[in-house]
Amino acid sequence: MQHEPRPIGAPAWDLDDEYSSFDDPRFVKDLERAKALLAGLELSVSGLEPAFARAEDLDPAEETALLDLAEESLLAMDEVDVLLQNLRVFANCLASVDSGDVRAKEYRGILSALGAVDERIEGNLDLLLARASRSFVEAFLSRPATAAHRFRVSLLRKHRDHLLELSVESALSSVKSDGLHAWGRLYDAITGAARCRVPSPDGEREIGLAEAASLLRGHDRKLREASFRSATAVLQGYEESFAAILNAIAGWRLSEYRMRSRKAGYHFLDAALASNRLGRGSLDAMMSVVRDARGLGRRALFLQARLLGLPRLSCWDILAPCPAVATAESGQGAAGSASATYTFAEGLELVRAAYASVHPAMGDFVVEMRDRKWIEARVLPTKRPGAYCTRFRKSQTPRVFQSYSGSLTDVSTLAHELGHAYHSKVLAALPIPESRYPMNLAETASIFGETALGDWLAEEPGAGNDRLLEVGWGDAREAATFLLNVPARFDFETAFYEARAEKPLGPAAISSLMEKSWKDWYGDSLEEHDPGFWRSKLHFYMSELSFYNFPYIFGYLFSLGVYARRTALGKDFHEFYKALLMDTGRMESEELARKHLGVDLGRPDFWQSSIELIRGKLDRFEALVEKAGR
Ligand SMILES: [Zn+2]
Repeated sequence: MQHEPRPIGAPAWDLDDEYSSFDDPRFVKDLERAKALLAGLELSVSGLEPAFARAEDLDPAEETALLDLAEESLLAMDEVDVLLQNLRVFANCLASVDSGDVRAKEYRGILSALGAVDERIEGNLDLLLARASRSFVEAFLSRPATAAHRFRVSLLRKHRDHLLELSVESALSSVKSDGLHAWGRLYDAITGAARCRVPSPDGEREIGLAEAASLLRGHDRKLREASFRSATAVLQGYEESFAAILNAIAGWRLSEYRMRSRKAGYHFLDAALASNRLGRGSLDAMMSVVRDARGLGRRALFLQARLLGLPRLSCWDILAPCPAVATAESGQGAAGSASATYTFAEGLELVRAAYASVHPAMGDFVVEMRDRKWIEARVLPTKRPGAYCTRFRKSQTPRVFQSYSGSLTDVSTLAHELGHAYHSKVLAALPIPESRYPMNLAETASIFGETALGDWLAEEPGAGNDRLLEVGWGDAREAATFLLNVPARFDFETAFYEARAEKPLGPAAISSLMEKSWKDWYGDSLEEHDPGFWRSKLHFYMSELSFYNFPYIFGYLFSLGVYARRTALGKDFHEFYKALLMDTGRMESEELARKHLGVDLGRPDFWQSSIELIRGKLDRFEALVEKAGR
């Protein structure tokens, strides 16, 4: 039976509380203020330079003028940070709603150049604080205005042996933009301009690679395979260039790490570990548990294949949506492409109810996000793909961005992004230097939100089998992503760095490393592997960050571990949860886990307990697949 399509009713966001346009006097004033502060900082920070030579002998009793100057500079930097981030978030918000917005593009360029200046200036003061005598830094941090920087400075000092001389650090950071980062931009330029051809009702059409990637999330399996093969062939044509880019990025980093290794060894994983505030022991413990859980990831893929009526999935199926399955109960048509549609109001209500089942305050927060118009969910041809949550630093208020078209996946994305927003709300009470959390902890609240939604949907009376299957399908896709795909990326990147330290690698050698890691992780669970994955995965080409993979695995397993406390703690859970989120910007991962969960991340037990939760989810999915007669 055909239903009339209902209006989705996805809202636009309201940014007027911050700025109404680039001509808004508030925008102009903040930008001018940031520029003036930066100009002043250039001068004051140069006044710190003479102190570098005697950093380790600085005696606070004789350095009042220097302490004053450093304090004054730090306060100005805090203010510039808030202003620049506020302006940047606004420009990004406009650019995401209308990717053709020329002024937004222009301001993003201006703001990123100012951001680079800000970073360089901040780097100088940080270097002094990392190097200076303990008594000097202690005197500095005991001033009330700087106290919020204590944790941040302790991290700088922890890694001080890897720092270089001021002149070398300055030279490195000034050549990075047109050196290291230029390679990342080259990859973006090539992949942004490349086109591939896919079948269409009237023959064939030419599309960009981003659109080809989005077809992998569609119901039509033939189209998925065709877009995969077409994009793969196009990317293969650029493989010499891509190999040169990967070799250059890794080569740059390895040379830099060698320079930084004079006092203490600097492994190629150290930079990523430090930025995630994580120790090597914890990473190793997590990866060894994940390695042992490969069978579980493969089981997820086999269950998905069963539901699709296939012996195995292939690499173009791993992002496929849940098929609509005929069940005796619902009496709907045969497996097709239809899936239940939730208007925005219905989707938001599901998220609200799921959040409220954790704690009424969390449900109220979802309503507040709607009422204050902090969610942008329309589907517009000009919008950038994907979803995200961001926050304005001046008001400390979040905004959520997505393109909501009414599938359960969209509802789940909304639950994910609102989780990030809730995290922001909890942190709004803290000074900004204590509210910046690393990537591995960023996903705690978001995956928590998704998990709460999944459990709510599964337990809600009256949930039909189709909906439950869709939830289970999402669980299986997540398990396969975090237990196979992301670990394969991690192993590939590790192997690539090891080999690159010897010599540059050609495309064939890089493909064979990728094939090997797919084989190790996926085994026989896929019909076909993707040895060219290194050409298509943007994450390998992000010049600012290496190993943009294991933090995802951490986020997934850590969040499940936090969620597991929900049942045990009952009504006390919410206070526990808020306290944990509150510390994500002012503690290292190990300390956070020890304080709030009472666990040692360097031991397998905690990670194993999260794996058991995934096993439970897959058991639930398997029972539903059976019930659907597959
Ligand atoms: Zn997220």
